Amino acid sequence: MSEADRLELLDHAFKFLKTWVAPSGRAPVYFGVVVHKRSFPGRSAVETAYDQLLARFDSYLSRLHRGGDSHRSLVIADDSSYEKLLQQILPKWKEGDGSIKKLHSLVEVPLFVNSEASRLVQAVDFVSWSIYNYYERGHVTYFSQVHDRFDAQDGVQHGLTHLVKGYHKCACAACESRRTYVIGEAPAPWSDIERPLIA
Ligand SMILES: [Zn+2]
Repeated sequence: MSEADRLELLDHAFKFLKTWVAPSGRAPVYFGVVVHKRSFPGRSAVETAYDQLLARFDSYLSRLHRGGDSHRSLVIADDSSYEKLLQQILPKWKEGDGSIKKLHSLVEVPLFVNSEASRLVQAVDFVSWSIYNYYERGHVTYFSQVHDRFDAQDGVQHGLTHLVKGYHKCACAACESRRTYVIGEAPAPWSDIERPLIA
């Protein structure tokens, strides 16, 4: 595939991720977690990220439930090398273990699928890639397309989490909203703000 074709494909994919709405009228809600590893020494970054992702997803469903819109949840994960880890830590999500509260909405164990066979997981790959490019490289072209679809309430972007000690000093879009209770119109590239800590 030529570079021009690749860029055109990306543009189409992100236009879809930015604008698609289900026939029911419900727009997709995205969640993403970025971990600054050195803020959590001795802890698995993947496990920490999954803990946060699921806790925030569960909080989102609880908020809908309180508003009279109840749902159950299903975890579908990429068939990856993390499958073993996810199976090991599943019990604490189902029962709670002190560090994480019990997730009430889960109806099934995580299902693992090959991302090439699932358009849903491919869509997740695109959103994840845009988050990676924003935090790793400061690229906002694609991240800005999905930025306003992360779960948010009262100006705080709960659906996008940058786990870092001292988030009140971080200028990334997620930490900024947590600090100011305002979600910026467009995320700023690193040329305009201090680079967030991620490694
Ligand atoms: Zn941040």
